[in-house]
Amino acid sequence: MSTNLPPDLPADIFKVVFEKSPGSLLVKGDAPCFTIVAVSDSYLEVTSSKREAILGKGFFEAFPEDKTLTDDTNARNVFNKVVETRQKIDVPTYRFDVYDPDKKTAEIKYWSCNNTPILNADNNVAYILNTVVDITKEINARQAVIENEYRLRLATEAAAMATWDLGLQDQTFISSARMAEIFGHLPGKVLSLPELQTQLDADDLNNIAIPAYHEALTKGNYVYEVRIYWPDGSLRWIKIQGIVIYDDKNSPFRMLGTVIDITDSKCDEIRKNDFIAMASHELKTPLTSIKAYVQILAKKLSASNDDFVNNILLKTGNQVNKMTDLIHAFLDLSKLESGKLQLKITTFDINKVIEDTIAETSLLSASRKIEFVQKKELTVSADSEKISQVISNFLSNAFKYSDKGTPISVTSAQQNDSIRVSVTDKGIGIKPRDQEKLFQRFYRVESDKVKNISGFGIGLYLASEIIQRHKGTIGVESEEDMGATFYFTLPENV
Ligand code: ADP
Repeated sequence: MSTNLPPDLPADIFKVVFEKSPGSLLVKGDAPCFTIVAVSDSYLEVTSSKREAILGKGFFEAFPEDKTLTDDTNARNVFNKVVETRQKIDVPTYRFDVYDPDKKTAEIKYWSCNNTPILNADNNVAYILNTVVDITKEINARQAVIENEYRLRLATEAAAMATWDLGLQDQTFISSARMAEIFGHLPGKVLSLPELQTQLDADDLNNIAIPAYHEALTKGNYVYEVRIYWPDGSLRWIKIQGIVIYDDKNSPFRMLGTVIDITDSKCDEIRKNDFIAMASHELKTPLTSIKAYVQILAKKLSASNDDFVNNILLKTGNQVNKMTDLIHAFLDLSKLESGKLQLKITTFDINKVIEDTIAETSLLSASRKIEFVQKKELTVSADSEKISQVISNFLSNAFKYSDKGTPISVTSAQQNDSIRVSVTDKGIGIKPRDQEKLFQRFYRVESDKVKNISGFGIGLYLASEIIQRHKGTIGVESEEDMGATFYFTLPENV
């Protein structure tokens, strides 16, 4: 019978093919010695060995046996079993440390191997073809994942935190055992997302949780605080924090996050707000009387031409005004924190409000020159008193943080569908890293230049909350020592 098969490979060519094979191959024969008869370059490389040092040697002479292994990963057991059963045996994972002659240390290595019998004419095992793969990296990576998971679990348990995972396509929801406890159930009770949502305060669900969810899909993360009711009717506060995971087409497909019970700290905060509200309210009444008495006194003595007394009364009036502004700021702060800050929207000319605010603020610092070029009417729908408060805060900061002789300018302009108002000074300016934080509650820049200028760091926080409630934007453009421009924009219709 004639075949078209090419002739067999000559032995020397076969030897080259075997030795240069990208696989790590080794052939051994004559059990129980298992003499090494062929080995590929790749095998030599992964085991840091030399061909002349191992060829012709018994396998366990070349690679010392690890006698501590008695199970299925013990090499001698495996080889004997291949000879006995004539079946291929895979060892998916085993450890065999490789001695590095350069570093003179043994390196921990993990391997996966298979042992294929090569039978002779009598159907007995003449050789075993051994293929090995170095899987150290995979094993170390798997170990690192296990360790990270363990660390994360310890951290979440220590922080009494619940974790959750929401699939956005099919709304599958998984949460840790702690979730049930945070929602007032026995630990470990499995609760579905709709079940948890029914415990959320209805207003907070509609006004906070649902908008935050939609915003997170584009923003990528979210954090919010809401009220929940336990099955026994008690009110608790929780903080939910999470991130969105996107697929390779950039569509959101999972949300992961944590939940913590913040009832204690929230109650402290509420008590502190109530205290600020009460204290400010109590201070307001005597201060209003002092202001009235000073005004009556000033009127009465204005005819006396006593410059000293008139000057003192003017200064007293200004100080009383400063205190009144501060107390109003504290009252606003507590109203804001308890969600009671309401806007009274009317339609008005913003240029008129700017002029009036400049006039009022100038009373406090008559020596300062404020430039404002009045242009045509610019009408907006907003809370005029609150907007005046924002402009007044920008102006009083410009006074505080720039030298007396330097000018301050105010501008107003129409920009697309919004109105932009800005206040510019030539003062100490603000470093970029502080600019991001200025609008946070109680934030004050820490530097020698401002340490002697009094303030509480609430003016810009209030300004930013007021502008946000008008759906506008607020910001600052500044360089250190080059002055600052604080601005806000308001949509034409709120
Ligand atoms: P306060 O002035 O009472 O501390 P604000 O909230 O109004 O509070 O301002 C926060 C901080 O922002 C100030 O402490 C100051 O460091 C910085 N800042 C505000 N306005 C200016 C300005 N025009 N120039 C430089 N720094 C400013």
